[in-house]
Amino acid sequence: MKDANFAFDARSKRAEDTVGCGVYLTFDDGPNSHCTPDILDVLAEFRAPATFCVIGTYAANEPRLIRRMIAEGHEVANHTMTHPDLSRCEPDEVQHEILAASRAIRCACPQASVRHVRAPYGIWTDAVLAMSAKAGLAALHWSVDPRDWSCPGVDAIVDAVLTSVRPGAIVLLHDGCPPDELGRGIHADLRNQTLKALPKLIPALRDRGFAICPLPQLH
Ligand SMILES: [Zn+2]
Repeated sequence: MKDANFAFDARSKRAEDTVGCGVYLTFDDGPNSHCTPDILDVLAEFRAPATFCVIGTYAANEPRLIRRMIAEGHEVANHTMTHPDLSRCEPDEVQHEILAASRAIRCACPQASVRHVRAPYGIWTDAVLAMSAKAGLAALHWSVDPRDWSCPGVDAIVDAVLTSVRPGAIVLLHDGCPPDELGRGIHADLRNQTLKALPKLIPALRDRGFAICPLPQLH
């Protein structure tokens, strides 16, 4: 009996630790047919859930990737329709950018439950927050930015996250790039450093006692 109680206590403690040390991986600016499948493969290999903040026009072009994200247990969040700086948009444009992106996600995957929105460049205004709330979306920012989009090197990405990660951290990564950067040439190794950083980063976070978790349910 004593042993059974001990086992129960140990299980409770583990559950507590897992909740207390959760960190959240987020990927912006996809889906991208070159990069996203490889990122999904690594997340599947390491059984790590993530949130993909997708651009609506890309979601419309790559519906199979949206369906794959959902089927593999990831969350899909709204990153607007065309990735503008919303602080420079008129109110009706803000409304369109947010609502059309949610529609594009649900059109690609009717099972997708869109709960969060992330403003492009992390630029939030009162109007953007109000429109997000009206659309039933919670604002999702980040707390750890290893600047993987600037291709600083695989180890630099891993080290930047490990240096600043805390329980509850939301880590910003990228599985694509915004439409205005596509003109500079899209190529297969666009997010190669991010891809190579993940198999180092995920075990390193777990070794330090962190659990990679889905974003908490909203109440
Ligand atoms: Zn973005």
